[in-house]
Amino acid sequence: FNVPIPVNEPILGYAPGSKERELLMAAIAKARSEQIEIPMHIAGKEVHTNNKGKVSPPHDHQHILGQYSKGDKAHVAQAIDAALAAKADWENLAWEHRAAIFLKAAELIAGPYRYKLNAATMLGQSKNAYQAEIDSACELIDFLRFNVSYMADIYKQQPPVSPKGSWNRVEQRPLEGFVFALTPFNFTAIAGNLPTSAAMMGNVVVWKPANTQIFAANVLMEIFKEAGLPDGVINLVYVSGPDAGDVIFNHPDFAGIHFTGSTGVFQNIWKTIGNNIHKFKTYPRIVGETGGKDFILVHGSAEAEASSTAIIRGAFEYQGQKCSAASRVYVAKSIWPKVKEFMQRDLATFKMGGTEDFSNFINAVIDENSFDKLATYIDEAKKDKGVEIIAGGNYNKTKGYFIEPTVLVVDDPKYTTMCEELFGPVLTVYVYEDKEFDKVLNMIDTTSIYALTGAVIAQDRYAIEKATHALRNAAGNFYINDKCTGAVVGQQPFGGARGSGTNDKAGSMINLLRWVSPRAIKETF
Ligand code: NAD
Repeated sequence: FNVPIPVNEPILGYAPGSKERELLMAAIAKARSEQIEIPMHIAGKEVHTNNKGKVSPPHDHQHILGQYSKGDKAHVAQAIDAALAAKADWENLAWEHRAAIFLKAAELIAGPYRYKLNAATMLGQSKNAYQAEIDSACELIDFLRFNVSYMADIYKQQPPVSPKGSWNRVEQRPLEGFVFALTPFNFTAIAGNLPTSAAMMGNVVVWKPANTQIFAANVLMEIFKEAGLPDGVINLVYVSGPDAGDVIFNHPDFAGIHFTGSTGVFQNIWKTIGNNIHKFKTYPRIVGETGGKDFILVHGSAEAEASSTAIIRGAFEYQGQKCSAASRVYVAKSIWPKVKEFMQRDLATFKMGGTEDFSNFINAVIDENSFDKLATYIDEAKKDKGVEIIAGGNYNKTKGYFIEPTVLVVDDPKYTTMCEELFGPVLTVYVYEDKEFDKVLNMIDTTSIYALTGAVIAQDRYAIEKATHALRNAAGNFYINDKCTGAVVGQQPFGGARGSGTNDKAGSMINLLRWVSPRAIKETF
């Protein structure tokens, strides 16, 4: 049984006047006006409660897109029961049938659901059309298609050696219990990938998305159902993180967590799991992709305009709210005046505004907490004599949570915004003496606790080689002469180490192997 050889989904351009733009705009208009009721999904049933939460676009926070039913601890317990009840049938279903469901989900997203899912991402998470297309369409389709092919490779692995008179085999069992998928606001593709990659390997799942992602999560669940996912295999609940954690991390059948989110939350979860370890039947799998303080290093030999483009695209696409977004940049003094000029020239052309106007490049940040946090960093920078603001610096939350793309130039390479994850459109630049390249390599490696993505931009081969080697532990995804964002499934498996995660590479066989527990069987004849 051969599954299709995966190919990356082509990106649609949504050019003015194109049919695809018309369809996407119609989907946005429909989603804006529908005022939907969003239920939880437990055991295949829609669960409504009287406790409602509002869903609003971050770029237009007074507009109500709909309301969702908030659950409590009892709903988490029900979701676990539903998952465990579905487990036997699901894990006994031949993997080819599981594959068919997820391949169908990919085709539904590539076809009839593309505009609906992109519109939900654009409205719920304030992405522009291109950012939604590369996330909720292309990346998610790629996750599903490529993971199905890795899954097939795992089940079809070469059997172990069997000396004469014996038959050895390895059975890839799903984990004993249920998996908890906990997803962040910033990528619909991640929301789709975390529950499905575990489910693909025969596991049953309780899924809790970020509150600011519920609008798209609801569409994802609709797609999974239409693709034929049996009831109870993935159960979707809208509860607070601590409520979910209280029930899940005390349950004997908790078998693993598939997490993406901030480092602090993950570390607390890990501690809770550690404290409760005696309560579980099995050691839970802990897989987490967490924060970043991603860097771009520009060598004196780099081409200035290309460096500027890499920096501003890496730092400001999706308002800097990608875990891989460039947030600290080190530029050689000899080239800085030109790079700065190009950055200021291009940033001046960026239009800021909501999803509905396709000419906007910068949209709102995700919520008021994030806005306030970023505004505080900017205010602090304005007061600091060691910081020069060379672009942006303004913010306004009257209609939406808008922060101008802001560039700080600092004289201290350990300045707060060079070290901490801000997760927004605020970039910090440190200009180094060209002759101090080696020193700057060490600085990059030791300044932050993270190691997610990084890039070097240079034409000098010795500089490229030196940086690639010296920074081998500073990033799980490293780019040469490119921005530090935009990993493509099947091309650059994604994930970081140190404070950035367990580096189980989303969209790879490494990741899928975390969701099975192999049994070796020896039969003697
Ligand atoms: P977050 O940590 O605030 O939330 C992630 C999930 O955890 C959400 O579902 C949230 O509701 C839940 N949560 C929060 N507190 C909890 C608690 N006490 N107990 C249980 N669950 C809890 O992250 P976010 O703001 O949604 O996402 C942004 C973060 O995610 C950034 O730090 C970013 O770097 C990171 N991220 C990393 C990657 C990666 O691949 N490394 C990818 C995307 C995002």
